[in-house]
Amino acid sequence: MQSLESVKKLFQIETFRSYQEDIILRILSHKHCFVIMPTGMGKSLCYQIPALLFEGVTIVISPLIALMYDQVNALQKITDQVTFINSSLSKEERSYRLDGMKQGRYKILYITPERFRSSLFLNTIRNIKVDLLAIDEAHCISQWGHDFRPDYSRIAEIRDILGSPTTLALTATATKQVQADILQELRFNEEEMKLFHSGIARSNLYLHVEKNVDEPMKWKSILDLISAKLITRNENKSSTLVYFNLIDKLEKFSDFLSTNKISHSVYHGRLNAKDRNRIQNNFLENKTQILLATNAFGMGVDKPDIRNIIHAELAISIESYYQEIGRAGRDGLDSSCYLFYVESDLAVLMDFIDWQNPSASFIKKVYDLFRQEGEKLASLDYKELQAKVVFKNRGDHRLQTVLNLFERYAVTSGDVESYNLKLVGGLPDELSAETKLEEKKQNSLKRLYEMLMYTKSTNCRRDFLYKYFGENPTSCDNCDYCLSLKS
Ligand SMILES: [Zn+2]
Repeated sequence: MQSLESVKKLFQIETFRSYQEDIILRILSHKHCFVIMPTGMGKSLCYQIPALLFEGVTIVISPLIALMYDQVNALQKITDQVTFINSSLSKEERSYRLDGMKQGRYKILYITPERFRSSLFLNTIRNIKVDLLAIDEAHCISQWGHDFRPDYSRIAEIRDILGSPTTLALTATATKQVQADILQELRFNEEEMKLFHSGIARSNLYLHVEKNVDEPMKWKSILDLISAKLITRNENKSSTLVYFNLIDKLEKFSDFLSTNKISHSVYHGRLNAKDRNRIQNNFLENKTQILLATNAFGMGVDKPDIRNIIHAELAISIESYYQEIGRAGRDGLDSSCYLFYVESDLAVLMDFIDWQNPSASFIKKVYDLFRQEGEKLASLDYKELQAKVVFKNRGDHRLQTVLNLFERYAVTSGDVESYNLKLVGGLPDELSAETKLEEKKQNSLKRLYEMLMYTKSTNCRRDFLYKYFGENPTSCDNCDYCLSLKS
């Protein structure tokens, strides 16, 4: 059995940061914790260290395969007792790792919540001693979180199956409403699951918002900013990330930068995985200074020295915005976050929210079509399906949302791209309840409205963010408003 000191050495830690030590000690005494800590502050150590000290296994539930892959890769440099099981592995590999679990080869297992749908997995895990359950990106548990993840709402039930182990919920941000919801869903009260909130303070980030009259003006402003940063301040070694909502806009802006002879790269979901990897690595290794990206970029990326984050369009919510600017200045050095927007950004985001929140009647329409097509369903491609349910707007992505929902709720198996899509289940209540779906959409619209209010605020930016996340404001001195008071 290892000691806390020897495990600290393995991780090359001299002193713990923030609440890390309190959390680790509480977990080692088998008490539950709820941790809200900005990304890059060492959240994962809070379960990785106890995991190596516990006799039994630690199960880490993580929503994204890419995230889990990065974490396991990093951990494998420290211990070989870590692994993951997910749908990206072959059946043989999965059962090899499950056998390893039985034989006690692993201390830490990363999985997505969907894994608990597999009865083979359930039966194996039932017979294993689980000491700790860590739930990463715990905001997914809340119905007010970012996304529909039905399997996250089963976590209390999953916890029972695991024999009610010590539980740790972790997230970078959660409003008071989301915090309360997470506790309720996990069936804990505030005393049982102690909250460790290390604040959302990132005093090294300069916050700036600029409204432009139209798009050409906006692009000119961004170009001026990038040129000034690159040339006058001689920041040519620093990294700048420019976020866009739409790939089409991103590509047009890329042409605009090229015309102005600014060297840069682009990253978005239409590139193939190989190109995306290459582009991401070039940025991580400072071979690319400026990267234009959609929010597909950044999950699991931990680059300490991103000096500038530029939002070329309004973000969809304060949560997304905060998460994205949180990628700047993780080394603690001064970094800047600029948000540029024009009124028309709002319309684009309202369309986004429409696409992400199809009505019950639209969902029913897709379901009925799938049933009607029967075996022929597998032979249709996305465009053909799209033409059958959406008549006017080819940019309408509601069908994609419904396909994702059907997969998550196990209504379908297979996928359109592999020509093996198949209807396997009925329509669940959650996808048929119009008022519930409408409520969720209204909540998304409300969050977008808050984002708009942030841009319009005539007060300290940091103050606004603190209030939004239900925290007590501290001094700022590092936003456009506060600096304007000084000059
Ligand atoms: Zn301020």
